[in-house]
Amino acid sequence: NHQIRLKSRPTGWVTPDNFEHVKADMPSPGPGQMLVKTLYLSVDPYMRGRMNDAKSYADPWKLGEACVGGIVVRVEESNGGKFPAGTYLTGMGAWANYQVTDGTGFNPVDPKLAPLSFYLGILGMPGMTAWVGLKGIADMKEGDNVYVSAASGAVGQVVGQIAKNMGCHVAGSAGDDAKVAYLKDELGFDAAFNYKTEKNLFAAVKAANPKGIDVYFENVGGPMLEAVINMMNFNGRIALCGMIADYNLTVDEMPAGPRNLVLLVGRSIKMQGFIVVNYPDLCREWIGVGAKWLQEGKLKYRESVVEGLENAPTAFIDMLKGKNFGKQIVKVADE
Ligand code: NDP
Repeated sequence: NHQIRLKSRPTGWVTPDNFEHVKADMPSPGPGQMLVKTLYLSVDPYMRGRMNDAKSYADPWKLGEACVGGIVVRVEESNGGKFPAGTYLTGMGAWANYQVTDGTGFNPVDPKLAPLSFYLGILGMPGMTAWVGLKGIADMKEGDNVYVSAASGAVGQVVGQIAKNMGCHVAGSAGDDAKVAYLKDELGFDAAFNYKTEKNLFAAVKAANPKGIDVYFENVGGPMLEAVINMMNFNGRIALCGMIADYNLTVDEMPAGPRNLVLLVGRSIKMQGFIVVNYPDLCREWIGVGAKWLQEGKLKYRESVVEGLENAPTAFIDMLKGKNFGKQIVKVADE
């Protein structure tokens, strides 16, 4: 049994040295517990916040202890636990090959309904985030002009497809030409562009959104938000899902915020942040809708899979740098 532990807290960019891959004892399930084996683990942008020693909606990871996040496991041994051996579960757990749990926070998942890794992506937290942001925060309606940043990522690719399935005009941006081609050619986005190679961000946002923007799904922050605010329509809604451009910057390095916030006043624009876990009803609703759409072929889904627990830190850092193409997953063991 091995674990990935937090060795030190980063200032600015994360490095592999912030983690350590250590041998750990093989745990044994006590009464009412199960021994579970990790098959997949998820690396997500919000984990950067958990590396800081700062109070937030997710507790900081503890120094010297295993990192914690979304995992898919198989019950290997049940000592009178909630689920029998052989059950597949998803929940929050340690970056470790094996751990024991009483099952709190774990739910069974069906490998026949979807590949197991999907429960960490399109049918898990990122997929739910797309649904919550569009339905619960932005009140998206048929015919809206929807724009999403980090559009090929775990959340973004689902946002765009939900909006298309609901009859919206959909535009997106991503940081790589292959990702942009995927949005247009595979996912059916009406427009997409590479924000890294466009010289004028304002012109690019305008060209991709010829009728303006009714709903902006914000994943990145930085200079993008200012360009988007310029193009927002009257009564527009901005769902602030994340601002990954800022996550690895120290306060001194952060750029000044949008200079055009005053436009929100005259155009009656609503801008609201949200945390997906605070919307359990919509999260449950998404599992039903998302699984049905997947089965009907109305959703496509792309993931990047890195193999081996020891490679989780690099997979995490690479994802923060945009090297992932689709949802970044770490495969820890064969099913
Ligand atoms: P992704 O799969 O989209 O991976 C992160 C992507 O962010 C990278 O691939 C990269 O794509 C892009 N990126 C990285 N740095 C920058 C930058 N400086 N400027 C613009 N884009 C950048 O991650 P997720 O889909 O899991 O998460 C997307 C966003 O949603 C994040 O901000 C995350 O924090 C947020 N989130 C919020 C939740 C909530 O409850 N509020 C829940 C889940 C996610 P590219 O190549 O296109 O640059």
